[in-house]
Amino acid sequence: MAAVQLVIHPHPVLRYSAKPIARVDKELKEIVQEMFRIMYAAHGVGLAANQVALPIRLFVCNPSGVQDEGPEMVFINPVISKQKGVEEAEEGCLSLPGVNAIVKRSKSLWVNAYDISGKEIDAEVSGYLARIIQHEIDHLDGVLFVDRLSSESMKALDNSMSTLTEDFSSRQRTGSTPSNDELMSDITDWEKKYC
Ligand code: ZN
Repeated sequence: MAAVQLVIHPHPVLRYSAKPIARVDKELKEIVQEMFRIMYAAHGVGLAANQVALPIRLFVCNPSGVQDEGPEMVFINPVISKQKGVEEAEEGCLSLPGVNAIVKRSKSLWVNAYDISGKEIDAEVSGYLARIIQHEIDHLDGVLFVDRLSSESMKALDNSMSTLTEDFSSRQRTGSTPSNDELMSDITDWEKKYC
């Protein structure tokens, strides 16, 4: 199995709009298990495929954030509709370590997707799970939660955001992280395989 790793902002795949999945195989099922492992290790509640450099429409989540507690859910090709209400709450992101802010999200929505066994999911969700789903689908569209903040709220995050950008460029300069072109070159292979 290809090893997958959590990627950090400003990795270019985080800005890539992921493509719908046409097939699920044993390797993808193993990658999903690896995504759960990475999510729990980083104390997250959700992880989108973009965050492990896969350009495909899939995310995993467990609102409890704890293995063996709460439901482990996999959403393939998720689509949301009938969004209702507005709610504000604090969010963070495993790809933006040290960055937190209050984000406005819909209170409730319908989600249609497939799980890893190919079973259709069609459900009305609200509260924390609805927030996680919106955050993760944003990832699949190349959107980060900071994109949803006012310029005023962004100002407060300027330092943390620049630190991430500087760390990333410095790793690219020293060669410990490949160049953006190299980072994006695997994308086509993954798309050919699963989309
Ligand atoms: Zn995130």
